[in-house]
Parts: sequence; C-alpha cells; structure tokens
Amino acid sequence: MYKPVIGLEIHTQLKTESKMFCSCANDSDTENPNVNICPICLGHPGSLPTINEKAVKKVLEAGAALNCKLRDVSRFDRKNYFYPDLPKGYQISQDRRPLCAEGFLDIEGKRVRIKRIHLEEDTGKLFHDSKEQCSLVDFNRAGIPLMELVTEPDIRSGHEACRFAEELRLIFRYLDISDADMQKGQMRVEVNISVSHMEGRLGTKVEIKNLNSFRAVQRAVDYEIKRQTGLLENGKHISMETRGWDEFKEETFSQREKEEAFDYRYFPEPDLPPMYLNDPPFNKENIKLRTELPQKKRDRFNKEYGITDKKEMDVFMNNQELADYFEKIVSEAVNWMKEWDEKSTVQKKEKIELVRIIKSYLLSDFLGTLKGKEIKDVLITPENFAELTLFIYKKEISSKIAKKLLSEMYQTGGDPSQIIEEKGWSQIKGSEDIKKIVLEVVEENKEAVSDYKSGKEEALQFLTGKVMAKTKGRAEPKEAQRMIKELI
Ligand SMILES: [Zn+2]
Repeated sequence: MYKPVIGLEIHTQLKTESKMFCSCANDSDTENPNVNICPICLGHPGSLPTINEKAVKKVLEAGAALNCKLRDVSRFDRKNYFYPDLPKGYQISQDRRPLCAEGFLDIEGKRVRIKRIHLEEDTGKLFHDSKEQCSLVDFNRAGIPLMELVTEPDIRSGHEACRFAEELRLIFRYLDISDADMQKGQMRVEVNISVSHMEGRLGTKVEIKNLNSFRAVQRAVDYEIKRQTGLLENGKHISMETRGWDEFKEETFSQREKEEAFDYRYFPEPDLPPMYLNDPPFNKENIKLRTELPQKKRDRFNKEYGITDKKEMDVFMNNQELADYFEKIVSEAVNWMKEWDEKSTVQKKEKIELVRIIKSYLLSDFLGTLKGKEIKDVLITPENFAELTLFIYKKEISSKIAKKLLSEMYQTGGDPSQIIEEKGWSQIKGSEDIKKIVLEVVEENKEAVSDYKSGKEEALQFLTGKVMAKTKGRAEPKEAQRMIKELI
C-alpha cells in the first residue's frame, strides 16, 4: 500500500500601492508593457532598494493569522540565478531568516504545519512570439511584493491540498493581504508530491507547477498519486522532475528533469538593513489582526445562527458583505419581534426560525435578483428586510405575496408595512373568508372535484390554483388545500 506525502509552495502577490523595493505602481491590471518601471526594479547599476513597510506588515499579519512563531530578526538575501525575466541577475528573497516560521492551519480538523513564510520580489514576464520568432519581456511585474508560503509535507490527498489552498485564499482576502485571484496569477500553487510504501519514508519527489485553479490542484494531485503508485507497483522507478498540468487531457506531463539541486549562492543583501521584529513598526502591538478569521466566523455562524449546511456556510464565508447584511437583518428581526410581542427577550427557538426565514429569502430570491450588484447599493435596509421577515413569521402575508413584496422593496426601497397597506396584500385572515372562496371554486369546477375524488391528485393542484387566483395570492396555499380537501 503506497501512501502519498504532499507539501505545497504557495506564492501570493501582495496588495500594496507600490512595488517591494521602489515606488513604481503595483498594478496587475496595467495593460501596456514596461510602464511601471524604474532604475531600481530594472536593476540599473548604482540604484538602491528600500523596503516597503506595508508589504512586510502584511506578511507578518499572515504569520499571525497562521499561528507562526515570533522571531527577533529577519533579513533579505540575494538569490543568484540567471533568467531573462530577472533584470538584476539575482532575486531579493529570504533564505535563513524568513519573516515567519513554524505555524499551522487546521483544515476540517486536520493540522497542516507551515514551515515558513517569506517575502521576495516577483519577476518580469516573458512572451514568446512564434510569428516574429522572438521573445519579449515585460517588467511591470518585476519587483511586485511576493509572499512565499511553504508547508510541511502533511497533506495526503488532492482534496486536502485543495481545501488548504482555498482556506488560505479566504484568509488572505479577509486580511486584505491579496485578492489572491488564481486566474490572474496573484496566487500560484506548486505541489511537491511523492509516494512511499514505508511509513515515515519519503519517495522520489515530483514537483507540479502551473496550477491555475483549485480544481486543477485537486485533480493534478490525485492524478499524480495514481501515476506514481502505478509505476512503483509495476517495478518501475520515478524520476525526480518538474511536471505541468494539462487542463484538457486532465493529466500531468514532464517538463524537465531535475539532475541536482541548483546552488543559488544565497548571501545577505548588502543594500538592505535587517528588520527587528520586536521593535516598531513591526512589533506585536503594530501587527494586530483587525478581522475575524474565517474559521472563527464559521464557528460563530454555526453557534449563533444554527447554520450547518456547508453550501450555505460557504456562501456567507465567501461573501463578507452578504454575511454582514445577514447579521444586521437577524439583529433587527430580533428587535422587531421584541417590539411586536412586547417582550424583552427572544427565545433561541424563535430566533432560529427567524434565521431560517431570512436565509431562505436572502439566499434564493434576494441573491437571484442581485446579479453582481454590490450589497452597499441595495435599497432594502436591514431594518425593512427584518420587518418583512416578521410579516412572514407571523403569517400576515403568504409566501407568494412575500416574494412580490421583496421584489417591490428591491426596486423602490419602500417600507414593507406601507407597501402591504397600499397594495391590499395582507393575508386573508379568518377561515370563514377563505371558506367562502373555496366553496365558490368547488361549485364552479365540478369536473375537477370529481377528478380528484376518482384519484387524480393533480386536480387538487388545479383547484388550489383557482383559490389562489381568486384571492390574488393572499391565501396560504397549504391552508387552501387543506380546506378544499375538507369541503369536498
Ligand atoms: Zn520600480
């Protein structure tokens, strides 16, 4: 039985105004090549880098969120290698003294240890023009702050790798460290994977690069586990290499063999001072997490609102504005209930029922009409949304009217009680009124009545529809149906 051992290396571009060591704009949406450049990020002789304080702080925040140990001193090193997208002939990175180390992130109850998080500069981009038979280079990306996170080999499957990367992206977004858009290359995941049949022993390591979606991470890992296991079971050997992922064939392919580890001749960057992490501006007091982290929020949403469904939870966790809006509505709804019932507290059971109603309208009808619009531009105030919820809870309006009302509120931003009043939408109260209408419908549709009696269930739907039409949707369908059955 072969067991996979997987570690990840994740590069994330930091969201800062300027680049890592110069004042050029850090803007990944710039379309024209070589406009955000200067002598520093082009590595002209005599130019001197300066450290972007905000970028360092963002990495330290990531470290705090990922339970990393605090260090005293961190510094930059030169990583020497030649490549046309690297203008200086070396990359300013961190070798022995990264900003953060020895952290962890728990994913679905499993701990993945984080070896280190360091800060470096991104490289330029090469474009190969086959028509002109030349390569072009764009240095807009050169010098953009890049955070590299390396995990310990604690991951065992494609699912775990994917979940880890997804949670990391969520944390980075919550902290506003990066938008971490994989399609735009703002977050790049590399996988190191080997399989071995002996516990605690590592097999030959294969690296997978160019994974530009979470789905690709999951599929590539699962594919590679199968491929390597298959080779070993057939007595073949695995070569140490870098492999790419073919999105269409859904398989990995060999890119290049790794003969031996490349010697980067790291040495301390002489142009930059060391960073003392116990002193301002990098000390603990200055690196406080101002946001609730995703896992904490998940636990709270589960405890406070009884949300257990994974899909529902994901919608709220991935959309912070929607989650905030939801929380405000719930709090307003609780206030409405206290006011209506003239009581000082609302029972847990009642709150959960309110939450159920709010969720069902918020996540279906409301999200459906939102169509990319931002919550802050929505006309319905949390207070009005909450009042609508109370009308539904108290059965003052039918679910059909509730939908119409929500749509009206969405368009006009109106107050629900006013709209109900103006449109005459309140629920038909008292069974006598509905009974009268049901009797009329039964009288007018004798054929359907006898159809139902002879066992045709759909005839009941037809009759209910007639009642709903006559009341213009102001009756509750279930109640109407019950009454029809009772009267025929
Ligand atoms: Zn520059």
